[in-house]
Amino acid sequence: RWEEVSAAKELAPVSLDNQRISLNVNVGLLMDLPHMHAAGADGVGLYRTEVPFMVRKSLPDVSEQTELYRKAMDRAEGKPVVFRTLDVGGDKVLPYWSSIAEENPAMGWRAIRIGLDRPALLRQQLRALIRACAGRQLDVMFPMISETAEFKAARALLDRELEREKTIGGTLPEKIRVGAMLEVPALIWQLIPLCKEVDFLSVGSNDLLQFVFATDRGNTRLARRYDALSPGVLKMMRNIAETTHKAGVDLSLCGDMAGQPIEAMALIGCGFKSLSMPAQQVPDAKKMVRSLNVDSIKEFITGLLEKPDHSVRSELENYAKTANV
Ligand code: PEP
Ligand code: MG
Repeated sequence: RWEEVSAAKELAPVSLDNQRISLNVNVGLLMDLPHMHAAGADGVGLYRTEVPFMVRKSLPDVSEQTELYRKAMDRAEGKPVVFRTLDVGGDKVLPYWSSIAEENPAMGWRAIRIGLDRPALLRQQLRALIRACAGRQLDVMFPMISETAEFKAARALLDRELEREKTIGGTLPEKIRVGAMLEVPALIWQLIPLCKEVDFLSVGSNDLLQFVFATDRGNTRLARRYDALSPGVLKMMRNIAETTHKAGVDLSLCGDMAGQPIEAMALIGCGFKSLSMPAQQVPDAKKMVRSLNVDSIKEFITGLLEKPDHSVRSELENYAKTANV
């Protein structure tokens, strides 16, 4: 399988009509980083920083975190790394963290909600990220943002840490890009004010679809009940892409949807130009992009948006077959 990944390394994800799609990888541990190079991906679209926290016996302090993020930056060899701040709670538990039992943990005290309520924890992580990216580019995003004000509050903590680092004479990152994950439906109706605050947005389709369909993402009984390739989802995705494009904000998608070729094709048809997925899925995504006509899939998607049935997936599969995608 890795031979196949390497074989696609040098191939650029450019469509038949000459549109460049950015293909990135999702990582959790440092050992995932070489796979980004092996796959010839553009960068790390999602670094799940809670993963190294989950495999430890205790909470890493600022210097341990700095060391970890610095290694990630070094191993990325100049390719961008989008660090997602801690997303604990929900389906991600820290063994040394005594959590309070919640009836609906996915909708509970998790991710940025903990970060804003326990700012010391988030500030420590931001301090470590600033130091790890000294003199380099820092890309950081906040998970589970539900409203613009929440993003502004998180960004204010980053600004305070930058100020602090400057005061103590530390080297700051050369460039800073701050983004929000779009995984709570309420945020879709605040995209216009939100886009004035963010440098980029990344759709977390795993959480977003769980909330949009009201289906637990971990419940196997429901796993096949609703299809991401449905008119409602495509319409939502197209709306997100159009609104962010108009506002001039970079957009990506880093949930599981990006890693399936037909889903990725549909997302490109909705206007996405950047996707992030596990490294082993990059070769198939490249193959798909290189045989795709972006303008034509966009037009085809438009014809599917009002379908009253379950035909969208088979329509897209037929499209891919007929167009040799
Ligand atoms: C998502 O929700 O789609 C996402 C990428 O974040 P995670 O899977 O880590 O919740
Ligand atoms: Mg998520």
